[in-house]
Parts: sequence; C-alpha cells; structure tokens
Amino acid sequence: MHRIFVIIIVFSFIVFSNCQNADNEAVSNGIESGNCGSSDYFIYATLWYQSSAEMRASYYQAFNLAKIALKNNLSEYEGKKPPAIVLDLDETILDNSYYQADLIFNEDTYSLETWKQWTDLECAQALPGAVDFLKYAVSTGVEIFYVSNRRLSEIESTFSNIRKLGFPEIPIENYIFRADESSKIIRRDIVRENYEIILLLGDNLNDFAGIFEDRTVNNGFDAVDNNKELFGTKYIVFPNPMYGEWEGAIYENKELTPQQNRLKTLKGINYICK
Ligand SMILES: [Mg+2]
Repeated sequence: MHRIFVIIIVFSFIVFSNCQNADNEAVSNGIESGNCGSSDYFIYATLWYQSSAEMRASYYQAFNLAKIALKNNLSEYEGKKPPAIVLDLDETILDNSYYQADLIFNEDTYSLETWKQWTDLECAQALPGAVDFLKYAVSTGVEIFYVSNRRLSEIESTFSNIRKLGFPEIPIENYIFRADESSKIIRRDIVRENYEIILLLGDNLNDFAGIFEDRTVNNGFDAVDNNKELFGTKYIVFPNPMYGEWEGAIYENKELTPQQNRLKTLKGINYICK
C-alpha cells in the first residue's frame, strides 16, 4: 500500500513538473479536460475509477435504482405519447477510463483527434450493471435513446463497440450524437416530439436538464437542491471524478496558464469548517 502511494506521488510529481513548461491547452468542457494544470487530481480520479470496488458498487447501485425507477414510472405513466428513456453513453454505460489513463501516461491532453482514434478502436468497456439494465429496459418495451456528445462521425464505431459488449441492439436511428453544440437540450426536445421521457441516466447533470448547465451560481448546487426529489426517481446519476461540467465552475477562464489553473483547483477545495 505504502509502495503504491509512493509511486503515485512520484508519478504525480513527474507529470506536474512537465506541465510547468507546457503551453496552456483548452480547458474543461465536458470531456475536454485533462489539462496539465489538473494532472495531479486527474491521476487519482482515474485510479479511483479503475481500481476502487466502491466505483463498481456505485454503478450497480445506480442501475438497481434505475430499474426500480423505470418500473415505477412506467406503471404511473398515463400520457398519450409512447414512453422513452434517455441515456448518456460515456461514463454512463461505457467505460473510457483507458483513454484517460493513456492521456496521463503520454502527458497529453484531450483532443478530438486522439478521442476519435480511441473510439475507432471500439475498445470502451461496459460499466458494471449497464448490460443487465439495458436488457431489462428493452424487456419493458420502453423506447431507448442514446443521447451522447460523441460526434456524428463516431456513430458507426460506437454502434459496433456496443454490440460487441453484449448490449441489446438499439436502432442506430436512436443514437442521437453531437452535430454542433454540446448542450443536449435541443436533442432531448427532438426525442420529446414523439415520446415522453420518463427516465434519464447520465454522469453529467447536463444529461438531464438545461437548468443544470449554468454552474456560475454556487457551483450549480442550488439547481440540484431545488430538484432533489428528481434524483433517483427521474434522474439517475453516475460517479465520474475524471471530467465533467463540474470542472467549469472551478476553472472558469480558459485563458489561464497551467499554473494558474492549478491554483484555482486548489482553491476549489473547501477546507474551512463553517
Ligand atoms: Mg457522460
């Protein structure tokens, strides 16, 4: 245990030292994180995601809850449109932590180019409980949509990747990927033209509703608190400490140097007991 900790510390130091001389990169927007200023936390986050039994338990817990919520919401639904559920893909049902680890080992940052190379490999893994949940969802007859910020050019490889993992086959027309903006509001509205969305699953609050997109006020805590009854009933959240919209409230300014970003990261930690 001690030896592993030392290795982690040394590795963190090496990565951060290299970052001192690196040019500033695009910082945080969804998966567009992994900048040098945050490499140290990035290592621990990726380790937790890949190595902790708590991570697996958290996913099982969330999918178990999702089954209950889906069953309840279907039984209570009386609308005229057919019911549907909307799932995010990355870090919701697909594990891309290998890509994140590759960025760390190569002292690299996220880019569309390397991300596309990763998705072309069709190597993302199924997250714990995801396949079973999708099989259950299909058995209920509910319509299933994958609303993802993967690009349109990645639909074919993603479809193939998901098929290899043993997920039930969802029609490729229900893969609603990103063409322009990262916001999913418009794409959820497209689904709502013909369906009633009764459950949403994602690792990013932006996967659920537009109200969560603004993190400038109180890191978005108020929006969460004001909708607390929806979590576990209509919204199922999965843990992702590696990247996400939550970073935006910390970094704010994309023009900061890596060193300045690191300072802001540290300032994001609340060490004062109020
Ligand atoms: Mg995601």
